[in-house]
Amino acid sequence: KSGFASIIGRPNVGKSTLMNKIVGEKIAIMSDKPQTTRNKIQSVYTDKEFQIVFLDTPGIHKPKNKLGKYMVKVATDTLNEVDVVLFVVDDSKNIGPGDRMIIESLKRVKTPVVLVINKIDQISKEDLVILIEKYSKEEVFDEIVPISALKGENLDSIIKVIEKYL
Ligand code: GDP
Ligand code: MG
Repeated sequence: KSGFASIIGRPNVGKSTLMNKIVGEKIAIMSDKPQTTRNKIQSVYTDKEFQIVFLDTPGIHKPKNKLGKYMVKVATDTLNEVDVVLFVVDDSKNIGPGDRMIIESLKRVKTPVVLVINKIDQISKEDLVILIEKYSKEEVFDEIVPISALKGENLDSIIKVIEKYL
């Protein structure tokens, strides 16, 4: 079994940290500055039973012009070519305009979408429950997995969920 998983989300939500933690190598560049990851970076997770190719993508931005619109379209088109999309958000209490825009794009994507709520080490259990309820109402996510990429919390659940869609 093998397949492709695309990691998408706003800048700074922890996409590169997640990919690096899962694959166990410092492949993507991590920093506090948004947009350090300029290109798609692929890395492969290999297990006894399966392989997952991760595509770490630059953050999706609100398009300011035609070229920007085209780039968003290219980004969403590629999502139809993978087996599963991991949409990473952070512990922000409200769904901001950046995430809202991505959610709207995801409605046109046929691939299963897993919502990964990252940075749960920074949020209370109560707030996490409220956040999960908020995202559940969006009706675009096949699964919701809360994690802490930094602390390595619940990453095995991500692997299990991905495996289902391979
Ligand atoms: P990307 O732009 O989405 O690729 O985000 P990065 O992986 O570069 O991470 C952005 C910042 O968030 C870095 O300072 C990370 O150390 C931090 N970060 C990533 N994951 C977590 C997490 O689970 N918890 C906390 N507290 N910080 C995190
Ligand atoms: Mg990155």
